Amino acid sequence: ETRSLAEIARTDPLTGALNRKGLADELTRSVRMDEDKAFPMTLVFIDIDHFKRINDGLGHATGDQVIRGLAELVRSAVQRDDLFARWGGEEFLLVFRDTTGEAGRAIAERLRERICGATWPEGLRVTCSFGVAEWHRGEDLAEGIKRADEAMYRAKKRGRDRVEVELDARDAAESQHA
Ligand code: GH3
Ligand code: MG
Ligand code: MG
Repeated sequence: ETRSLAEIARTDPLTGALNRKGLADELTRSVRMDEDKAFPMTLVFIDIDHFKRINDGLGHATGDQVIRGLAELVRSAVQRDDLFARWGGEEFLLVFRDTTGEAGRAIAERLRERICGATWPEGLRVTCSFGVAEWHRGEDLAEGIKRADEAMYRAKKRGRDRVEVELDARDAAESQHA
């Protein structure tokens, strides 16, 4: 193990994804480096569907394997400089810099298909629900995350294994005028 203490402090040990602190640091850094180029960003919340059933039916160790497998699959499907964090137990957050919500939605849709088509431990079928939101310059990160989270809950309500997008107030006003 040659990883530095600083690196260990900003990553999640199970998956190697960034933890919340690591994500915040990376975001601060890219906004500082070139704010004009960083925005808009697209936030994508990913939550494994019915994960409790996996834990309850096959045990916590298999649950952990699925979480790790999902992290590997997502990382292999996105670009190297996209930010990927474990947000909670079986919830992840992807951040695409310099990417519109529409482009982000297409990436999320491709990911959704890859996850439900992948091979999982014990012959499991694994799906995820996705919430996509654009995050604009000058807006609190918490606001963007809240929208992505709301979109993800809508994906759950509408049957899971799907991608939902949450427009911000500005987009909603524009589409009303159109
Ligand atoms: P939904 O489709 O609505 O998301 O259903 P769900 O069962 O995935 O719902 P919920 O978010 O309530 O359940 C998440 C479960 O994930 C609960 C918790 O026990 C489990 N969990 C959280 N962290 C870990 C972990 O590190 N390893 C394992 N194996 N399980 C975890
Ligand atoms: Mg959850
Ligand atoms: Mg879940």
